[in-house]
Amino acid sequence: MRYLYVGATPEVDREALTAIRERVATEFGAPARDLELFAIEFAFDRGRQQYGSIPVLEMLGRVCPPDALKLLAVTEHDLFIPVLTFVYGHAQLGGRSAVISLARLRQEFYGLAPNREVFLDRAYKEALHEIGHTFGLVHCADRSCAMALGTNIRQIDLKRVAFCASCAAQVQVERRPRESEK
Ligand SMILES: [Zn+2]
Ligand SMILES: [Zn+2]
Repeated sequence: MRYLYVGATPEVDREALTAIRERVATEFGAPARDLELFAIEFAFDRGRQQYGSIPVLEMLGRVCPPDALKLLAVTEHDLFIPVLTFVYGHAQLGGRSAVISLARLRQEFYGLAPNREVFLDRAYKEALHEIGHTFGLVHCADRSCAMALGTNIRQIDLKRVAFCASCAAQVQVERRPRESEK
């Protein structure tokens, strides 16, 4: 049996985490398990006041349980890669590890009134997107597909919490050889 692990750094909203875990388990049809992660202060960049997603992915590679189908880490910290001002998430293409940040997904970040439903929908989309990359999916031209490139919150809001038919089929193909390992 292979599990979809959802790991959280200590500051993460536990209720959001549970909702994300249940949603990805349903979407990918795999049993999910929690994984407690240590704080990611090692990835903190003093100059940028953000956390590097690359060192986080390296750490995930080291702590990934052997029975993991995939490992998705969730953090409240704002993530970046050197060439971009921020990233909503980052994944190893065709690998096992991915990370998403909740930092820019709340309405409050944009000076708006809190909306739990909007926040969770965005988190689900980001979780699907980054896990999709670990299944080898690349960015999709369909703007409503979870695999569409989202560089701002409006683009994320245009997506559905689902893959388009073509991306969904690719996830199924990718999952098949792994299922036979059971
Ligand atoms: Zn992407
Ligand atoms: Zn697609």
